[in-house]
Parts: sequence; structure tokens; C-alpha cells
Amino acid sequence: MNHPKSRIAGMLTHQCPVCRESSIYVNPRVYTFIDLGKMHASCPVCKTNLVPETGFYFGAAYVSWGLTVALWVSVLVALKVLDALGWIEFGFLTHPATFLTVGMVATIVFFPYMFRVSRGIWAYMFVKK
Ligand SMILES: [Zn+2]
Repeated sequence: MNHPKSRIAGMLTHQCPVCRESSIYVNPRVYTFIDLGKMHASCPVCKTNLVPETGFYFGAAYVSWGLTVALWVSVLVALKVLDALGWIEFGFLTHPATFLTVGMVATIVFFPYMFRVSRGIWAYMFVKK
């Protein structure tokens, strides 16, 4: 089957794991916050069952945890780079409030996208035709 998107692009844009031609979400736009978690029961294009069993997407919490850790590590690296460039003064042990503030803001800003990507990655791992 020829796919319009790569597997990675399909995951990052929440496309059906089988055909990659339709969003797995009812509202494909993330930051409108309307029906953020509402998914199609089956793909509108290829009719693949996107919810194989009750509670299937609870496992996406493990993916979300990993993505959140990656986000916080990215925040730490970004702050260290800004410190090395002399743009800010930052040390992990000397400025913990800076790290916590920037990390929490980044977590809040990226939450809707990471919520959806976590479910998308979970679907790509376990939903088969
Ligand atoms: Zn599909």
C-alpha cells in the first residue's frame, strides 16, 4: 500500500496507522481544544477499528511519560546552552526555580499536542488492520 506520509509523519500528525490518510481524531486541529481527546471509533477512510478494546489508550500514558521526560531534558539542555552563550545565568543547582518555571510552562503549552501524539504512537504500535 502506498502511503501519502511516512510512518513518523503519520504519528506526528495523528493519521490512521493503517492508511495514513485521515486523522484519528474527530477534530484534527489540536489547539482549538474542541474535542481534544475525541477519536473516531474506526478510520473514516479504511474502516480500521481504532479502539480495539475498552481502555485501550490507557497505555498511552507510558508514551506520554516518556515524551514528558524528553521535554524536560530538552528544557534543561536549552537552558544550559543559553547559559553557555551568556544570554542567561543558569545552573541546575543554583537556579532551580528557573528550570521548574520554564519546564512547567513548556509542559502546559505542549500538553495538548503531547496528549494526542502519545495516543497516536500507541495506536501505531498496536493497531493493525
Ligand atoms: Zn485508515
